[in-house]
Amino acid sequence: MVETQIAGRGIKDTYVLEAMRAVPREMFMPVGVDELAYEDMPLPIEEDQTISQPYIVALMAELAQIHPDDRVLEIGAGSGYAAAVISLIAEHVYTIERHESLAMRAENILSDLGYDNVSVIHGDGSLGLPVEAPFDVIMVTAGAPEVPESLKAQLSIGGRLIIPVGGHERQQNMMRLIKLPDGDFKIENHGPVAFVPLIGRQGWFKNNSITRKEPENKSPIVKLLEHDAQALPAPDSPHFGQFFDHLGEADIVLLGESTHGTAEFYRARAAITQRLILKHGFKILALEADYPDVSVLDGFVRNRDVPDIGKPVFARFPEWMWRNDEFLQFVSWIKAYNESQADPENMTGIYGIDIYGLQSSINAVIDFLKDKDPQLAELARMRYSCFEPWWDDLVNYGSTMLTEDYKSCEEDVVKMLKDVLLERQTYTNGYADNYLDITRNATLIANAEKYYRTIFMSSAASWNLRDEHMFNTLCAIRNSRFNSSGAPAKTVVWAHNSHIGDARASDMGVNRDEINLGQLCRENFGDKVQLVGFGTASGTVAAADYWGGSVEIKNINTPMPGSYEDLWSETSFDYAKLSMKDIDDKLREKLAENFMQRAIGVIYKPESEMMSHYYNARPAKQFDHYVWMHKTAALTPLPQSVEQEELETYPFGI
Ligand code: SAM
Repeated sequence: MVETQIAGRGIKDTYVLEAMRAVPREMFMPVGVDELAYEDMPLPIEEDQTISQPYIVALMAELAQIHPDDRVLEIGAGSGYAAAVISLIAEHVYTIERHESLAMRAENILSDLGYDNVSVIHGDGSLGLPVEAPFDVIMVTAGAPEVPESLKAQLSIGGRLIIPVGGHERQQNMMRLIKLPDGDFKIENHGPVAFVPLIGRQGWFKNNSITRKEPENKSPIVKLLEHDAQALPAPDSPHFGQFFDHLGEADIVLLGESTHGTAEFYRARAAITQRLILKHGFKILALEADYPDVSVLDGFVRNRDVPDIGKPVFARFPEWMWRNDEFLQFVSWIKAYNESQADPENMTGIYGIDIYGLQSSINAVIDFLKDKDPQLAELARMRYSCFEPWWDDLVNYGSTMLTEDYKSCEEDVVKMLKDVLLERQTYTNGYADNYLDITRNATLIANAEKYYRTIFMSSAASWNLRDEHMFNTLCAIRNSRFNSSGAPAKTVVWAHNSHIGDARASDMGVNRDEINLGQLCRENFGDKVQLVGFGTASGTVAAADYWGGSVEIKNINTPMPGSYEDLWSETSFDYAKLSMKDIDDKLREKLAENFMQRAIGVIYKPESEMMSHYYNARPAKQFDHYVWMHKTAALTPLPQSVEQEELETYPFGI
C-alpha cells in the first residue's frame, strides 16, 4: 500500500512513510470490511462516518510537516487510524470526535495497541481544545464551510493548520494555513477533496431535535448570548471540570439542576466537584437529600462508624434521585479518592441537608444513645412514639391535630432536642462527626415536626422552613470540618435550581414571600458564594407522574416560546456557560427582565407543563453562572433490590 498508493503518488516525508508502514490499518476497521483495509479508498465506519483513504492521511500528515517534538490536535478521530499514524511522529496527539461511540471505540483500539501518546476527547472539535492550546499542528479530517476562528487562535506561531474547506457539505479544497509571527496567516490551496462535514458550532450546523435558526434570522439577544457565553465540551469530557476553575476561589459553590432526573446534570456536577476537590481543596459535598441516609454514605466513603438508621438508604420516593448509576459512580470515585488520603482530615465528606427522613433520624438518635445513655434512649423512644398515628400519613399530621383529639409532638421533640444538646459533649467525646450526627438528627426531627405542622396551612411557610433548615444544616456541617487555616472547609452543594437560584430574582421571592438556600447563602456569605444554575431544552428525563408513583423515562417538551430555554435553544451551543459578571451591559439589561423558566422536579407532567412547571425569573440576578445543555438524557435509576456482591462495596443495600 505504502509503495504504490503513497510513495508512488509523490509523498516523500520519510517520517510519514515509516509511520504509515508501521500502523496496522486493519485493526481500525469495523468487522466485515477489514479485508479492504489496504484498498485505495475511504471506507465506512460506524455512525455513517468514514476512515480516510490512506493517501489522504499521508498527504495531510506531509502538509503538516510534523516533527517529533510537535503537539498535534486532530479534529475528527473517526476510527483513530490517522491519530495512530501521527502519534508515531509527534510528541503527543489530542484527537476530538463528536460521536461518543466512535470516540470510545477509537480510544479502546489505540490503548489496546499501545499508542500511549494519544488522548481521545469526545466533543465539538470545531471549537478546538483551548485548555491544551497552543498546538504546532492542527489537522481537521472533516470538511468545514470556513476556517474556524477558534482553531486559528489555537495555533502556535509557525504552526500549520490543515483543513478541508468548501461551501458544499461534501466538496472542499485542502487548505494549509501557516501562522506568521505577526499572527497573520500564509494560506495555500492543495486541491479538491471530499470529506464528511465538520458538524459543530464553528462548522456546519445540525441538531437532531430542534431546528435552530440560521444565523441571519437570529434575534439580537440570541446573538448577544452567543457572543458572551463560552462553549463547553460535553460533561463527560476529561476537560469539562477545568472550565470551572474560577469557582475554586469561592468558599461555597452551589450547583443546581433544572430537573431531578437528568444524567448530564449529575455528570457535570460530578466533574466540577471532582475538580474542586482535587485542585482547590474542597472537602464538603452537601446534597439536597436526607441527613440520616447520606450519613450512611459518608460512613462508607470516610470509613467511619455512623448510627444505624434502621432502614435501607434512599428507599423512599423519589428513590432514583440519589439511587442512580451516575451518582453511584461519583460516590465510588469519592471513596477511592478518600482511600488515597493519608490524613483523614483531607477526606471528602458527604452530607444531606434536607428536612425529610424523620423516621430514619429517630432510629439514628435512639441507636446513638442506646449504649451511651440507655435511659435517655428509652425516653427518646417514648417521646418519638408520638408520631405513631401518622407514619403513613405525615402530610396530614398538622390538619388532623386541629380537628381531632391528637396531641402535637412539638413539646416532645423540642425537649428531646434540648436534652441532646445539653449532653452532646458527654456523648460525642468531642468527635466532631459524632457530634454532628446526633445534633443534626435531633434537629431534623424537631424541624420536620414543625414542617409537617405548617404544611397544610401555608406552602410558603413550610417551604421557608425547609430552606432555612437546609441553610442551618449547611452551616452546622461547615462548622464541623475545617481547612488548614482553621476556617470552615470549602463546600459544594448539589440541589435543584429552585433552591439555589436566588429567590429574590424569581416569582418565589417577588410574589410568594419565599426565601431559599441560594438567597440565604448570598445574604450571609456575600461574594464568597457562587450560584450555578443548569438548564436544558430537550431529550428525556427520569420522573414520576404523581407523588409516590414509579419512575418513568419521559420526553421533555420543546420549550415554551419566549422562555429562557427557548432563547438558549436558538443559540448554536450544545453545551455552554454564561458567567453574569462577564456579560456586556446590553445583555445584562435584557437578562434583568423576567423570563419563564422550566423546573422539573421528581414529578413531570408534560401535558400541563405551563401550569405546573414554569415560573418567572430574572436570570441576571438569579445565578452567578448558568450552564446550558441543549439536549440531555434521563439518569439511570438503580434497581430497587441490590445484589449481595454490591452490598459489600456499596451501602445502598444496607
Ligand atoms: N481521522 C479519521 C480516521 O482516521 O478514521 C477519519 C475521520 S472521518 C473522515 C471525519 C470524522 O469527523 C467523523 O468521525 C466525524 O464524526 C467527525 N466530526 C465531524 N464533525 C466533528 C466535530 N465538530 N468535532 C469532532 N469530530 C467531528
